[in-house]
Amino acid sequence: MTSKVLVVGGGIIGTMHAYLALEAGFSVVHCERDATPQSASMRNFGLIWVSGRQSGKELEVALRAREIWGEIGAKVPATGFRANGSLTIARNQAEMQVLEEANSMPDAVERGFTLLTKEETVALEPVLAGDYIGALRCTKDAAAEPKYLLSAMREYLKTNDNYQWVPNFEVADFTHNESGNHVTDVKGMTLSGDLVVFCPGAFHKGFLATYFVDAPLRRVRLQMAATVSLPKKLGHSVADGDSLRYYPAFKDLSLSALPPQSSIAAENFMQLLLVQRLDGSLTIGDTHEYVEPFGHELFEDPYDHLRGVISAIFGSSAPAIARRWDGIYSQSTSSDIYFRKTISPGAVVVTGGGGRGNTISPAIAEETMIQWR
Ligand SMILES: Cc1cc2nc3c(=O)[nH]c(=O)nc-3n(C[C@H](O)[C@H](O)[C@H](O)COP(=O)(O)OP(=O)(O)OC[C@H]3O[C@@H](n4cnc5c(N)ncnc54)[C@H](O)[C@@H]3O)c2cc1C
Repeated sequence: MTSKVLVVGGGIIGTMHAYLALEAGFSVVHCERDATPQSASMRNFGLIWVSGRQSGKELEVALRAREIWGEIGAKVPATGFRANGSLTIARNQAEMQVLEEANSMPDAVERGFTLLTKEETVALEPVLAGDYIGALRCTKDAAAEPKYLLSAMREYLKTNDNYQWVPNFEVADFTHNESGNHVTDVKGMTLSGDLVVFCPGAFHKGFLATYFVDAPLRRVRLQMAATVSLPKKLGHSVADGDSLRYYPAFKDLSLSALPPQSSIAAENFMQLLLVQRLDGSLTIGDTHEYVEPFGHELFEDPYDHLRGVISAIFGSSAPAIARRWDGIYSQSTSSDIYFRKTISPGAVVVTGGGGRGNTISPAIAEETMIQWR
């Protein structure tokens, strides 16, 4: 008889588990607290960002994940997956020096790095006509559309008779006995499976709280925005030089020679990341808030800063901001790339992918499948 897997959480980590469990021949019951997921996976940039991953295990995981993303993109085009690549822009000589060093890293070819002059960058992306020195292109970076990704994947999964989607099911209790694993929701309904994976994202409280005591995890809040539609096409995702300070791929390069960040960027731990959505708008961000309790407000000055950086890189006024939001992710604070804990036979909690959670989600799910085999 086919083994039944319960997946708790409809974000990208849960959805990738559902996808790979079906591929592995399990039957899947997939439940979610909300009518449709509303959390980090819906609020992110949709970036599949290989360029910033640390050499070694983290890069390996990201490259494997990128392969699976490519397969999913081909099977489910409505995810908006596209191998669009990225450009990290150097606006001063110190940033250009770091890009040159990055382009000489032993794994630069695996990452699909090429160093471009400003003229070569403009030839590739005429929108980027502003004042800068050059760019590091990464052809392995890709993007999907967070607004459509999860629903597109669920529609695809629903074509398989072995898949059942159970929205509005907030798990409040979990038991394991000789008949398997059982979850009960707040209304007293029960779902059972031979195996269960909990993918609760940044919801570290509730019935799972006991498993998170002393877990090497923190929550991080980000502020984001979307502009009005840009009439011109920008294929690549774009990052500014501040991103070099945050991504571990670059941690051993000449970061100490970088000029200080602007005060607003430093206070809010900011970088510019930008991706054009299929509707022409630009998703831009981000700030990072590491200490709880988080604020609840969205502030204007980080967005002014981001629009200033965009205007400088575009050489023309940045499009106006149309929408703002924030989001919270769960991040592993240990040397583990993410958090995985077996809580009873056949029951595992998986979260903590941090700002790379979307990128590595298929590889995280694949690791669970390997353990279940
Ligand atoms: C603003 C922002 C931008 C980001 N940008 C990127 C990016 O471009 N690239 C990248 O790689 N990563 C990015 N990340 C990180 C990435 O979005 C997250 O790591 C990833 O989405 C986490 O997925 P998840 O499924 O673990 O969590 P979530 O998306 O939070 O999903 C968890 C789900 O579990 C459900 N749930 C929780 N508890 C229960 C329960 N008791 N019962 C039933 N359901 C429950 C929740 O309702 C939720 O839908 C970003 C994050 C943020 C916040």
